Amino acid sequence: MKAKALLLVDITQLLTFRSAALGPRRSASLSDLGIIQDAAVLCLGGKIVSVGTTKDALRDPWLKKNRKKVTEIDCRGRVVLPGFVDSHTHPVFMHPRLVDFEKRISGANYEEIAEAGGGIRSSIDGVRKASKAALTQKVSAVLADLAAHGTTTVEAKSGYGLNLESELKSLEAIRAAAREWPGTVAPTFLGAHAVPPEYRGRSQEYVDLVCNEMIPAIAKRKLAQFVDVFCDRGAFTAAEAAQIFTAAERHGLAVRAHVGQLSETRLGPLLRYRPASLDHMDYVNDADLPALARSETIATFVPGANYFLGLSKYPDARRFIESGVAVALATDYNPGSSPMLSMPMAMSLACTHMKMSPAEAIAAATINGAWALRVADRKGSIEPGRDADLAVFDVSDYREIPYWFGTNRCAQTIMNGVPSGLFRSEKAIGENARKKTRREDRPQPF
Ligand SMILES: [Zn+2]
Repeated sequence: MKAKALLLVDITQLLTFRSAALGPRRSASLSDLGIIQDAAVLCLGGKIVSVGTTKDALRDPWLKKNRKKVTEIDCRGRVVLPGFVDSHTHPVFMHPRLVDFEKRISGANYEEIAEAGGGIRSSIDGVRKASKAALTQKVSAVLADLAAHGTTTVEAKSGYGLNLESELKSLEAIRAAAREWPGTVAPTFLGAHAVPPEYRGRSQEYVDLVCNEMIPAIAKRKLAQFVDVFCDRGAFTAAEAAQIFTAAERHGLAVRAHVGQLSETRLGPLLRYRPASLDHMDYVNDADLPALARSETIATFVPGANYFLGLSKYPDARRFIESGVAVALATDYNPGSSPMLSMPMAMSLACTHMKMSPAEAIAAATINGAWALRVADRKGSIEPGRDADLAVFDVSDYREIPYWFGTNRCAQTIMNGVPSGLFRSEKAIGENARKKTRREDRPQPF
């Protein structure tokens, strides 16, 4: 995968998010997209070199001399923005949870789903039995799908192995899939996703295993950048999260947590560990917002989970934004509560159910997602020197990105300077048509 010299020209709207170095976007600055009309972007060696109007680009002396060596992408009638940074996914699992899906629709609760053989238990069994190669293939398919929807950087968690061997296998699968993908993957160890069945009623012993065996082994193999904890009712307590964060710190790993999905947890004790982000945030005490706003911790909303679980309540994004908290959006892609890979869909849900404006939703899905993964010095904005991570959308106004829900308007994604996915081009359609004809030549068994 070689980064090419690329020139995107005649871009109808370019969203730059320039001045990203100033820190995560908060309050009014969350709507500041840094739009350039009729714009151009030049990328060389996987980096963005210049950003300006098409007129400026065509006058550039270097470009005049080297035009033939540069691949040109015509973006007339299109919007170009930083590739999405999906800062929360669980891609290492084998099977969809269809029992959960049907049971929940018919009104079953969590315990009834578990009794019917569903719930996290089924994903744990799937991962423990799977080979590393099979898991790698699953993660690779997810990465390709993400890119097709405009995502160029993704956080990927383990957390369905829940023993040393299967957590290592999961993180190795993430690493193997990431090596084959031109985009960027931030791996996270989520050993504290749930207490595994064999440790039922012995949660402290499991936390000790996470801290004393799993974290050291993962740090030694450099398999993760972050350690995550599911801190909520029925999962791990704030005191257990603190113990895990202390172990993570000792091994040089940054931390993040699932908080406030099912019940309120006070944030003060967690903020002491300077988490990169706190995710879900459906139930948060008002008194915790000022401290959160003063911190560099991002509050990440994952409305796909609220949607898929059929909840009528969504996180109160306006309360966070108006308090000056830096917010991000992510898919929470996982088999139990959010089998969704599309950041535009997450943005659409944020607009319709959380009253975020289209501009705020896009900033939360790009530059603030980059802050949530601590890669904002390279990702999430279109400025000279940043990584060439771009998404080209087949729309002429950025507000259309969350507006057209349930369809994919991403025309092309560029990851570290590598263009891919001419998903809506005539060439791709032509190829499909040819394949179809061939298949019809001789009938195939179902
Ligand atoms: Zn999650």
